[in-house]
Amino acid sequence: MRPEILNPLFRALTALKGIGPKQAELFGRLLAGSADREAVVADLLFHLPSGVVDRRLRPPVAEAPEGGIATLLVTVERHDPPRAGGRGPYRVVAGDDSGEIALVFFHPRAEWLESALPVGARRWVSGKVEWFSGRPQMVHPDYIVPEDRLDTLPELEPVYPLTEGLGQKAVARAVSTALESLPAELPEWQDAAFIARRGWLPFGTALRLLHHPAGAAPEALQAARARLAYDELLASQLALGLVRTRLRRMSGRARVPDGSLTPRIRAALPFSLTASQESAIADVAKDLAAPHRMLRLVQGDVGSGKTMVALFAAAMTVEAGAQAALMAPTELLARQHHASIAPLAAAAGIETAVLTGRERGRDREATLEGLASGRIGLVVGTHALFQSDVAFANLGLAIVDEQHRFGVHQRLAFSDKGRGTDVLVMTATPIPRTLVLGLFGDMDVSQLTEKPAGRRPIDTRVLPVERMEELVARLRAAIAGGQKAYWVCPLVEESEASDLAAAESRREALQEALGPVVGLVHGRQKAAEKDAAMADFRAGRTRVLVATTVIEVGVDVPDATIIVIEHAERFGLAQLHQLRGRVGRSDRASSCILMFRPPVGATAEARLKIMRETEDGFVIAEEDLRLRGEGELMGTRQSGLQNFHLADLALHADLVETARDDARLVMATDADLTGRRGEALRALLYLFRRDEAVRLLRSG
Ligand code: ADP
Ligand code: MG
Repeated sequence: MRPEILNPLFRALTALKGIGPKQAELFGRLLAGSADREAVVADLLFHLPSGVVDRRLRPPVAEAPEGGIATLLVTVERHDPPRAGGRGPYRVVAGDDSGEIALVFFHPRAEWLESALPVGARRWVSGKVEWFSGRPQMVHPDYIVPEDRLDTLPELEPVYPLTEGLGQKAVARAVSTALESLPAELPEWQDAAFIARRGWLPFGTALRLLHHPAGAAPEALQAARARLAYDELLASQLALGLVRTRLRRMSGRARVPDGSLTPRIRAALPFSLTASQESAIADVAKDLAAPHRMLRLVQGDVGSGKTMVALFAAAMTVEAGAQAALMAPTELLARQHHASIAPLAAAAGIETAVLTGRERGRDREATLEGLASGRIGLVVGTHALFQSDVAFANLGLAIVDEQHRFGVHQRLAFSDKGRGTDVLVMTATPIPRTLVLGLFGDMDVSQLTEKPAGRRPIDTRVLPVERMEELVARLRAAIAGGQKAYWVCPLVEESEASDLAAAESRREALQEALGPVVGLVHGRQKAAEKDAAMADFRAGRTRVLVATTVIEVGVDVPDATIIVIEHAERFGLAQLHQLRGRVGRSDRASSCILMFRPPVGATAEARLKIMRETEDGFVIAEEDLRLRGEGELMGTRQSGLQNFHLADLALHADLVETARDDARLVMATDADLTGRRGEALRALLYLFRRDEAVRLLRSG
C-alpha cells in the first residue's frame, strides 16, 4: 500500500484547481510522453524548469544587450499600426533618454495594445532584445507593467519545457497549484549525516525552490537539483537491489556443466574463441555451478562475438540437464541468431527451435511440446517466449540479447518461467560504467574487450551529399569486385511513412544505376518479406541492401564490407556506431561512408568527427555523454533511462555510484525496509513509481 501521505500526489491532474479535462490531456502529453498511464500531480511536480530567465538586468535602452533578456523603463512615444491591408507587424515605439526601442507585435488586438501601452505612459517592459541595423527591438515583450508595479514582475522566472498548446504561464500556474498538494512534511529518507554534509535541503523544500527560484543563488539551485536527482537515483538503485535480492533469494540452483557438449561445438567452429570470449564463458560456467542465481551482464562492443558466449552458456546449461532460452528484441534477430546457432548446437546434439509471434499452428504446438517435455535444449525467440502457454520442463538459463530493450519486469517474468533460473544479459551498447550501474544495479559484468583476430579497422569517410554520384560509381566498382553493401536511409523523425518513401525511392535510384542487385528491408515489411530480403542479401542474390534503421541492432552478414549512411548528421552517435558495426565482421577490409547534407550543426559535426577518429565503442560512449546537449544519450532511449525525470546522468554521474553504495548498505542492514529509514525509503520508492520493487518485499 502506498503511504497515505503520498496520496495527494497521485491524484489525476483534473483534481487540481484550474485544470479541466482538456488541459489535463495536454499536460498528459507533456508529462507522461508515450507512457501508457495517466499523468498525476507528482508528474507535474517533477516537471522541472530547464532554465531560469533572469530579468534583473535593467539597462538604459541604448545599452540593452543584443539577444539578451532586459527589463526596460520606457515612455510610450507612438503607435505604428501595420499599413491598411498590410501584413506587417504592429509597432509601438518607446524610449528613454538614451534612445528608442520598437516593441513589435504580430496580430495584436489593437484595443488591448492601446490600454496596455497608451502614448505618454511609463511602462516596464521585459523580454528579449534584438538589434537590427543599429536599432533595438523587442518582439512580444513577456511583461508590460506600469512604472509603480515593478514588484509584479518576477526577477528570476523558471522556464519549463512545453508542448504545443501549453505556454510558460499555464505550466507555471499549474505547477504552483500542484505544489500546494505537496505534504508539508515528508519523512526524510536520506541519511541525516549525508544530507548535512552535502548541505542539501529537504525534498519538499528543494522542489519548491526549483519551481520558485526567485532570489536563489545558482549554487543553491544546483544543490536542490542534485538532492532531487539523488532521491531518484537512490530509488532506482534500491529497486534494482530489491529485484536482485529477490532473484538471488529465489533459490538458485547449482547446475554443474559436465563438459560433454562444448568440446563438440569447439570442434565445429571455424575459428577459435577470443581470450575475452573464453573468460566470459568461464565466468558463466562458475556462476552456473554455484548454488546462487546468476545475474550476469555480458557487455561487448558490436562485433565482439557475444552470440558465441550465449551459445556456450546454453550448451553448458544443457550439459547440466536443463534448458536455455535466448530472447532477442526483434523477430529478424531471433531468426538470425537461430540460423547461426542451430548448426553448431546440432553438432553437439542439442535440439533447437525458434519461437516468435509468427510461429502458429502445428509448428508452434510441436515447439511447445518439445519445451514442455524437455526435448528442446535451446529455444531462440522474441517476446512470444513470455506467453503464458509457453512452459519449460526445466528452464535453467534465460539469455536476453540487447537487453536495453527490455525492462526489469520482463527480466523477472522471464526468469519466473523456471525455478532458480539463471539470467545472462547481453548488451552491445557500450555503456559507460556509470550507466551500467544506473541500468543494472550491481549485476556481475563480463566484458568482451577485444574483437576476433584478423579484424581490420573500418575506413570511415565523411562525404557531402553532392558527391553521391561519385559514391555510386565507386559502389558499382566494388560490387563488380564481389563486395556487398548496406545503404542506410535517412531517419525522418516525423513519420515512419516518409522513412519508407525515402528508402523506396533510394532503392529505385540505385537499382537504376547498379542493375537488379538492390534489395530493401524496412520495419513495415511483413516478417516473411524481411526474411526474404535478408536471405537474398546473405546469399548474394542482392549485393546492395537498402535499409531503414531496422538493421541497426545485431544484424550479422559477415561478408558485407561497405555501409553507406545517408543523412548521417541526423543520427546519434550510438546509432552511427551500431550501424557501422554491421561491417568489419570478417578479415576483409571494410568501409563506412557517412553522407551528410550541409549545413551541419556543431554537435552533429563533432559526432561525425568522432566517428572518423575512433572505432572504440567505449570512447564513443564517453564522448556521447560529453556531447549530449539536445542529443540522445547513447542507448538510453531504449533503455528506460528516460524514466529518470530529475536525474541527468551527464550532470549527476558521480551520484550514481554513491546511490549504489547507499542502496547496498540499506540492503545489507535493512533489506526488508522495516527500520525507521526503511519506512521512509518505502515512501521514496512509491514516490518514484518503483512500487513493483516494494511488492517484491512481501513475496520475496
Ligand atoms: P556481436 O557481439 O555484435 O553480437 P556477433 O556475435 O554477431 O557479435 O559476432 C560477430 C561476427 O563475428 C559473427 O559473424 C561471428 O560468427 C563472428 N565471430 C564470433 N566470434 C569469433 C571469433 N572468436 N573469431 C572469429 N569470428 C568470430
Ligand atoms: Mg549480437
